[in-house]
Amino acid sequence: MIHIQQTEPGTEWEDWKQKADKETRQIVEDAEKGIPVKLKTGIWKKLKPLLEKRFKKKCAYCEGKYIAGTSLDVEHYRPKAKVTTNKSPNSTIKITGPGGKKIDHPGYYWLAYNWKNLLLSCPKCNRENGKMNQFPIKGKRACCPGDSLNDEEPLLMNPYEEKIPGQHFSTTGVDGYIKGETRKGTKTIEICDLNRESLRISRQEEWNKRKLSLVLNLFQGGDDKIVTDDMEYSYYLKEALLKNLEALPQEAINRT
Ligand SMILES: [Zn+2]
Repeated sequence: MIHIQQTEPGTEWEDWKQKADKETRQIVEDAEKGIPVKLKTGIWKKLKPLLEKRFKKKCAYCEGKYIAGTSLDVEHYRPKAKVTTNKSPNSTIKITGPGGKKIDHPGYYWLAYNWKNLLLSCPKCNRENGKMNQFPIKGKRACCPGDSLNDEEPLLMNPYEEKIPGQHFSTTGVDGYIKGETRKGTKTIEICDLNRESLRISRQEEWNKRKLSLVLNLFQGGDDKIVTDDMEYSYYLKEALLKNLEALPQEAINRT
């Protein structure tokens, strides 16, 4: 994961924002009246071109690019229709509903069309064995539009919020694995399955493919930024470069 600047979408997104705000007002009103909330997929999907540009066509969680035949999802950081604390459907969050009855948390429906809650994610991180509806926190859970999100203290990393995502992870830079160095880092790996075998191999292969050119660039006084944000798995490449720096120069020299 790398940090992504959370800047207001430009004027070309004004119509979209107005529509998103209008629909949000409608679902909040419906929810207050006890009318079941109906979300419109088309609204958040329309934001995809902006997200692709912002996230450099990479998954917000694993930094993977398009896999042949698939595309990236517009993902809700705070789940829109249900909330669980782990992969088990039995971990659905319960809240106190009307009459003191325990009911399922309705999800953060009021953020369904909020651009600040929308990320770009690959299906592997987002679906099946990935995040789905997981959103564990260590603070106080927001249950309705008036509740503070600042009190939640999420355990899932958000590239908009994390100024230095790398502080939560470590890696040997050899085998493609990443390790959690904080509770949040460990939990994020678990939620999005960030050490799945296919991803581990992809990171390892990307490093093997790029390592000589990265090291040569470094020693030839190349660009200031040897690993750029648009590179797939750039966090891993950066860490692997640092970890392997002492061992690699001789190899790089011998191969030229
Ligand atoms: Zn991913």
